[in-house]
Amino acid sequence: MDKLLDRIVITKPDDWHVHFRDGEMLDAVIFDTVKQFSRAIIMPNLADAIKTTKMAENYRSKILDSFARLKKNNQIPQENTFTPLMTIYLTDDTKPEEVLSAHSSGFIFAFKLYPAASTTNSSAGVTNLFGNCRKVLEKLQYVGMPLLIHAELPDKNIDIFDRERFFIDRILISLRRDFPDIKLVFEHVSTKEGVDFVMEDTGPIAATVTPQHLIYNRNSLFSGGLNPHFYCLPILKAEEHRQAILKAVFSGSKRFFLGTDSAPHNRSLKENRCGCAGCYNAYNAMALYASVFEANNSIDKLEAFASFNGPDFYGLPRNRDFLVLYRKENIIPDMLEIGKIQLVPLGAGSVIHWNI
Ligand SMILES: [Zn+2]
Repeated sequence: MDKLLDRIVITKPDDWHVHFRDGEMLDAVIFDTVKQFSRAIIMPNLADAIKTTKMAENYRSKILDSFARLKKNNQIPQENTFTPLMTIYLTDDTKPEEVLSAHSSGFIFAFKLYPAASTTNSSAGVTNLFGNCRKVLEKLQYVGMPLLIHAELPDKNIDIFDRERFFIDRILISLRRDFPDIKLVFEHVSTKEGVDFVMEDTGPIAATVTPQHLIYNRNSLFSGGLNPHFYCLPILKAEEHRQAILKAVFSGSKRFFLGTDSAPHNRSLKENRCGCAGCYNAYNAMALYASVFEANNSIDKLEAFASFNGPDFYGLPRNRDFLVLYRKENIIPDMLEIGKIQLVPLGAGSVIHWNI
C-alpha cells in the first residue's frame, strides 16, 4: 500500500455484504457500490426472496442490466468492472440438490441463513435449522460453499441487545459441533461475544464488519432524540462491544473483512411511526472505513481488511486494479435524491476527512 500524506492507494476493495433491493431502488443505489467496489456479495432478502439458482440468475441479470445502463449513460468510466456475487436464501424447504446446482452455476457463492423474522424480509427464514436443514448443511460442508449467518435469535422474549449472544449459545455452538468443516461467515458482527467466537472457533470462519458497528455505539440511537437512521439489525451495542470489534479488526486477524450491510430504505419508511431497520452507508463507505481506521492509527490495516481477507476466505483472486482515497474534508449530505427515492446516508450532516 502506498501511504502518502494526502492520499491512500489500495487494491480495489470488495463489499462482502450488500442489499441492492430491486426495481427503482436497485437503479438508485448500484452506482454508490460500483464506484468503490469491484465485487459484492448480493443479499437475497428481496420481498420475493431469492430461493433458487434460477431466481438468482434472473436477479443477477437485472443487476448487470442496471450496471450496463450506468455505463451507457457515462455515469461511470467505461473501464470499470463489477461482478455481483449471488447468494441463495436458505428456507425450511430448501432442497439439498439446490446446493449442488448453485455450486455448479459459477455465479452463486453462498447461502444466507436468516432466522425467521430476524430482519427486513425474513419471514421466509428458517424456523428450525437442525430439524429442517441438516441435509442442506451437509451439502454446503461437502462442496465448501459458505453459509452466511444473520446471527441473532429473533425471540421477542430475549432482550434485543442480547440476541446475538443467545444465537451463539443456542445455535452456533451446536452448528460448529455438528459441522466442523462448514465455512461460516458471521455477518455484521456486533458484540464482544461474537468477536470472541470468531477469534476462537476451530473451523473455517470469518466475520464481516459494517462501518456503523465500527464508528457508533448505541448512544447514537438516542442522542438528542430518537435517530431512526442509526437503527439497523443487529442493533448498535454498548461501547465495550464496539471496542472489542475495533480491537479484532485492528489486530490484523484475517478472519475479519469488509461488509457494509448497506440497506437502503426510502426516507419515509425510516422516519415513520414504525421505522425500518437498515443504514444506507454505500454512499461513502470507503471514506467511513478510512476515517475510523485512521482515527485508531491503523490505516496500514485497511487494505487487508477491505481487499485481501474477503477474497482469500472465499477462495477468489484478489483484485488487480486500485482505488485512491484523497484527504478532503467534506460534509456528508443530509439527503440523497435519486428520482423519486430519498435516502439519508449514514452520518448525514457530519464532517468526514476522506473522499474517493
Ligand atoms: Zn444485511
